[in-house]
Amino acid sequence: MRIILLGPPGAGKGTQSARIVERFGIPQLSTGDMLRAAVAAGTPVGLEAKGIMESGGLVPDSVVVGIVADRIEEADAHNGFILDGFPRTVDQAAALDRMLAEKNLALSTVIEFSVDEDALVGRIAKRATETAARGEPVRKDDTPEVFKTRLTAYRTQTAPLSAYYASLGMLETLDGMKPVDAVTGDLMTVLERHVRTAPATAAAIS
Ligand code: AMP
Repeated sequence: MRIILLGPPGAGKGTQSARIVERFGIPQLSTGDMLRAAVAAGTPVGLEAKGIMESGGLVPDSVVVGIVADRIEEADAHNGFILDGFPRTVDQAAALDRMLAEKNLALSTVIEFSVDEDALVGRIAKRATETAARGEPVRKDDTPEVFKTRLTAYRTQTAPLSAYYASLGMLETLDGMKPVDAVTGDLMTVLERHVRTAPATAAAIS
C-alpha cells in the first residue's frame, strides 16, 4: 500500500502513521523527520533547510522531491510506504506522480485528517510539553509564533492538494477531531477496504 496522509501540523499524521506502521509493516516516510536528521547531521540539505524550518516556511520543492525520490528506492519501501508531510505543494504532488509512474507504481489512497484549526495550537503546545517531559529535545518550530507561519503555509500551499486528489478520486477525509483511538479505527476501516479491493497482482507487489 502506498498512502499519503494529509492534514495541517498537529492533525495527528505522525501518531496515526505509527499505528499504520505497526498494523501493515510499511515504513513512515516523514519529510520533516528526514529534514531534521539532515539539519542535525549538518549536510548541505540540512544547511539549506535549517533556517527555513525554524521560521515555519517550506523547504524548496527541488530539495524535498530529491530526498523522497532517494528514500522510496530503499529496500524497506518496496512493499509500500506512508508519506507523512509530503507532498506539501501541488508541484510536489505532480513530481510524486511522475516518480511513481516511472516505476509503474500507483498510490493506494490519500487520507486527509480534517481538524478544527483552533484546537491545533493547543495540540502543538501539548506535544512540546510531553516531549520535554520525556527529556527529548523540543522542536524549534513547535512554538505558537512559528506555528502560525506553518499553518499559513499549510492553508496557502498544501490545502489545495485536497482538491487535487479529490479530482483524481483518491481522497478520503476523516474526522481528525475524534479521540485518537477512534481516528485510528476509522483509518483502519479505510485501509482494510483498500487491502481487500486491491487487484490480486497489485496486492502481491504492494
Ligand atoms: P513536519 O515535521 O512535517 O511538520 O515538517 C517540519 C518542517 O519541515 C516544515 O515546517 C517545513 O519547513 C519542512 N518540510 C517538511 N516536509 C516538507 C515538504 N514536503 N516540503 C517543504 N518543506 C517541508
